[in-house]
Amino acid sequence: MNMLCEICGDRAIISVSNGTLCKEHFVEKIESITIETINEYGMIRPGETVAVANSGGKDSLSLLYILSKNFRKNNNIISITIDEGIAGYRDKTIEIMKRFCNRWRVPYFVYSYKDFSGSDMDSIKKVRKGIPCSTCGVLRRYLLNKAAMERNADKVATAHNMDDEAENVIMNLLQNDFDKFLRLGPVSGLKERSGFVPRIKPFIFISEKETMLYSIINGIDAVHTPCPYAGMGFRGVVSRKIKEMESAKMGTKMNVIQKMLMMKQRYSPDYLPKKDMEKCSVCGYPSSQNVCEACAIRQSLATSNNRGRLTNI
Ligand code: SF4
Ligand SMILES: [Zn+2]
Ligand SMILES: [Zn+2]
Repeated sequence: MNMLCEICGDRAIISVSNGTLCKEHFVEKIESITIETINEYGMIRPGETVAVANSGGKDSLSLLYILSKNFRKNNNIISITIDEGIAGYRDKTIEIMKRFCNRWRVPYFVYSYKDFSGSDMDSIKKVRKGIPCSTCGVLRRYLLNKAAMERNADKVATAHNMDDEAENVIMNLLQNDFDKFLRLGPVSGLKERSGFVPRIKPFIFISEKETMLYSIINGIDAVHTPCPYAGMGFRGVVSRKIKEMESAKMGTKMNVIQKMLMMKQRYSPDYLPKKDMEKCSVCGYPSSQNVCEACAIRQSLATSNNRGRLTNI
């Protein structure tokens, strides 16, 4: 039996926790949820510069598309791409990102691991122990903040969707990291302070399936294949399990996020330490240690490169 749109009664194209909808009402719904999330959490104020963390993938291009369409009148929207240096993957998405930004006249900036550390991710993977995503995550967060600071952005908008956030919630609970858990949510848990640009997640209530469909309907040319290093380690296990649970019971991911938001309300902000972070003695950006994690990685890669051979560090 054909599913019918719950708003107009036409043939529906999707049935998810955000509703059973036809093409037109689906597009409207995705944009209205995004804008409502932005307004409800005070994510973007008039006059602010918003840097969209743009990987060139379907999620970030869809976010840039919606923000450009709805906020450009009162805001400066720019695009920042972090080039990890993953051959056959990031080079493709960077081409797509450039085409998209040129078409919609969005200024774009690219910061690479190679420029920062002297090594790209493919080389880093060979010399560092553990799963690549741990090192990659540190460098990406660092460069994104540095890029946003250097471009005078007031906010960094990331395209983290409902699947990503549910994954983060479960990961932090299973790793017993309650501090990190309390820093999740639509707006970065860290308070505004010098050296750190607050982060916002306007897609937090939209699923991966929905952003995929939204990008296809809007003709957003994006690479739909994941990074070759994705799915490794514990995060990969958690991600697969959450998808299984969502298939068994629709609404599971949304429930996980809603519960996290309730718990945050109960514990924050009193639970989290008030103390401001120190500054990294190498780069000057906020850090809880004398040398921040990104500078420590850069130093160890330099040592490894100086030795002139690939060894585990
Ligand atoms: S999947 Fe891992 S290695 Fe690939 S871009 Fe993401 S964090 Fe980096
Ligand atoms: Zn409809
Ligand atoms: Zn540093």
